[in-house]
Amino acid sequence: MEDALIADEQLDRYPIGSDPWIDSLRDIDSDAMELDDLDVSKLNVEQAVRLWSRLSAWVEGDQVAYYVKDAPLSSDAAYDARMNCLKRLESEFPQLDTPQSPTHRVGGTFSNDFTAVRHPSQMMSLDDVFSFEELRAWYDGVRKDLEWPEDKLLPMTCEVKIDGLALNLIYRNGVLTQGLTRGDGVTGEDITMNVRTIHSIPTNLDGPEGDIPDMVEIRGEVFMRWDDFHKLNEANEDAGRPPFANPRNAAAGSLRQKDPRITAQRHLSFYAHGIGELVWGSGKPVDVADEVRNQSDAYTMYRKWGVPISPHNREVTDFDQILDMIEYYGEHRGDIEHALDGIVVKVDDLALQRRLGSTSRAPRWAIAYKYPPEEVNTKLLNIVVQVGRTGRVTPVAILNPVYVAGSTVSRTTLHNAYEVKRKGILIGDTVVVRKAGDVIPELVGPVIAKREGHEQDLREFVMPTRCPSCDTVLRYEKEGDKDLRCPNSESCPAQLAERVINLAARKAFDIEHLGDQSAVALTNPEDNRPDSVEAYAPGVREIVVEPGEEPAPYLAPSGLELPPIQEPVLTSEANLFDLEASDLRDVYVWREAQIIEVRRHVDSHGKERKVRHRLGGSGLWHREPAFWSGVKDAPLKKDANRKTVKDSEGNPEYEVKPDAVIVGHGRNGRPRIEEPTENTRKMLDEIEKAKHTDLSRVLVALSIRHVGPPTAFTLAKHFKTLDALADASAEELEQIDGIGAEIADSIATFFEEARMPGNWRGRVLEAWKAAGVGMSTHDEGLPQTLEGKSVVVTGTLEHFSRESAKEAIERRGGKASGSVSRKTDWVVVGANPGSKATKAEELGIPIIDEQQFDTLLATGDVQ
Ligand SMILES: [Zn+2]
Repeated sequence: MEDALIADEQLDRYPIGSDPWIDSLRDIDSDAMELDDLDVSKLNVEQAVRLWSRLSAWVEGDQVAYYVKDAPLSSDAAYDARMNCLKRLESEFPQLDTPQSPTHRVGGTFSNDFTAVRHPSQMMSLDDVFSFEELRAWYDGVRKDLEWPEDKLLPMTCEVKIDGLALNLIYRNGVLTQGLTRGDGVTGEDITMNVRTIHSIPTNLDGPEGDIPDMVEIRGEVFMRWDDFHKLNEANEDAGRPPFANPRNAAAGSLRQKDPRITAQRHLSFYAHGIGELVWGSGKPVDVADEVRNQSDAYTMYRKWGVPISPHNREVTDFDQILDMIEYYGEHRGDIEHALDGIVVKVDDLALQRRLGSTSRAPRWAIAYKYPPEEVNTKLLNIVVQVGRTGRVTPVAILNPVYVAGSTVSRTTLHNAYEVKRKGILIGDTVVVRKAGDVIPELVGPVIAKREGHEQDLREFVMPTRCPSCDTVLRYEKEGDKDLRCPNSESCPAQLAERVINLAARKAFDIEHLGDQSAVALTNPEDNRPDSVEAYAPGVREIVVEPGEEPAPYLAPSGLELPPIQEPVLTSEANLFDLEASDLRDVYVWREAQIIEVRRHVDSHGKERKVRHRLGGSGLWHREPAFWSGVKDAPLKKDANRKTVKDSEGNPEYEVKPDAVIVGHGRNGRPRIEEPTENTRKMLDEIEKAKHTDLSRVLVALSIRHVGPPTAFTLAKHFKTLDALADASAEELEQIDGIGAEIADSIATFFEEARMPGNWRGRVLEAWKAAGVGMSTHDEGLPQTLEGKSVVVTGTLEHFSRESAKEAIERRGGKASGSVSRKTDWVVVGANPGSKATKAEELGIPIIDEQQFDTLLATGDVQ
């Protein structure tokens, strides 16, 4: 009531219809009632426009509030008085009577029209930099342009760059009259209706009359907070709608709504981060610089007006503080209330800003440091299914290759069919791929807006019912499972290939020359076999084209037939240790001929050079021996001095190794041979050596579910022999420190099944035993220097991988932990350590380097 009294007193001082009366009008009932006494014909055009813009903003605010929330801000009487006054103004001054006027708005037609509106002053964008070097160059450039003394601090603001949408808010006499998107910076779209539904954007600027300018453009960012975003997506999922891929998409989709009711439900937020035109009225400071000298002054002013400002802004004075800010938010990217993609640095002093000026699109006094993108858009080309080591069938997204957070991503797992459905993705969609830190890239979801006009290119993914590798009917292991599995675990080629890859890995038998390709050649040689003879081009290894030229169409020679299907050399890993070179002679794999473009250019010495450029696959396939050389001349035999060895008659001798096969003779009787490649010889050698490995590695090689190196090591240490482990019950296993119920159950089940007559796992164990594979542990000799101690390793060590460092700790009785806590005894820090080192410092835990780690392993102490 006190407010109303003061207003009344003020009104007593200002004659109705005068300039100060118009400017001091407030959105309260008593002021509204005064409008009825106004004679609009006494106003000049300029006054009419000012009054109209104030009244229409309030009326529109009420309309939005009424329409979207069913709760207008003003009383019916005040609303009617203002509406009435607007109508009178529009009939007296017809130029005010536009289709956008709130006088023409009736319930049903109430929507945003997205009219193009020119910004009072241009909305600049920011130049981006992606490295500290570029940032430093900008910083040095600014100081140089300002001729700033070297030893003098230069105040700047550092702001978190919100991943949202830029917005220009226009307040006239303290009342929000327009909200515009950035558009091209010169012209934006009018989304005032939707802006009025954003809670944190005030309709009226707070503060005494003298602090409110005639006009101000407040620039900022509309965004959706993470918590609001997650709530929105949960609601979308419940309603069976595809979720939004990220808060930015959600905010954009919400702002672009024609119906403000929808925008209102979306809970958008706003932070101001810039100032456009600022006009003070008569008797107020003419030069902005007298009132607002600094960028940070503008923020103080905004706060007084009730306009929200980011709580993360910092004022800095040197380059190191800028780097601190970048590092801090680089590490805490996921911890703040909204998505961010960089740090914005601005010269604080507005006079200095003016001196530095702008290019046509961006100011020179500000720069955006962008973090490596954690999210990018790309096309989902296809969804294929992959059969894993344990038979789990997973849909895999095939993506148009895209660079995200430090690596190129072309495929990523979608886990299971439910996930594909939950994410609402269609093949052909533009999708968001996210990779935070070292995390495996994740397909977040579709960009729905990009579907428009491409609906015919989209199709739904259908989960197959049969194994794509062995055609066995897929099934769930138990009720309620989300993962389909191929039950043909013994000989499904896809599963077997994965198991062979696993058993050859460093953590298992460490067979270096048995890589992915050899594993597939051994277990699944018909992988990539073409469907028809039209794609079979024996002998065509590559197709060379001139720049811009297309390969000539391929016509399969008449009578050509696809070669017979090969039986794999390995139909289970049981006979791995029985492999001999001769078994591998007739193994062929399918390879695609590559299209090679040859570009010719003349180098600086005037010589013509050819540059070969691989364009990709041709769709034509041929077979190549996987493990043996083709037919070739036997090499000349050389002695220790690299001289050709000759026989008694002076003829050269030839090198034919014991595993080579002579298939004929060439000129001069030179043998024509076929022999295993060097790789194949090494592989067979390494397989032989692998027999002498330790029990813990054998356990990893068996692909028992949930048994990785740490568990295998614990088991080997506890049981010493495979037989002892095989006899242990799940209950016994669970007694061991570090073995949970799920792991215990999986191990017990494995050996139970292996004991059943004819079980293939039993056959693998028997075959390996028969081949002489070590089934006991033999490193009891290591001193248990770290008994009862907990060690954390972070960063890159020179002589240890993450895995081998862990193993080294565990083999000495210590606990290798993944996270730092008060119970940690030492933290080993290598190159590029993460937050663990910081945490250790905070907790006062001893930090040691790699050399001290060696000492620690040997002696149990770092001295
Ligand atoms: Zn299968």
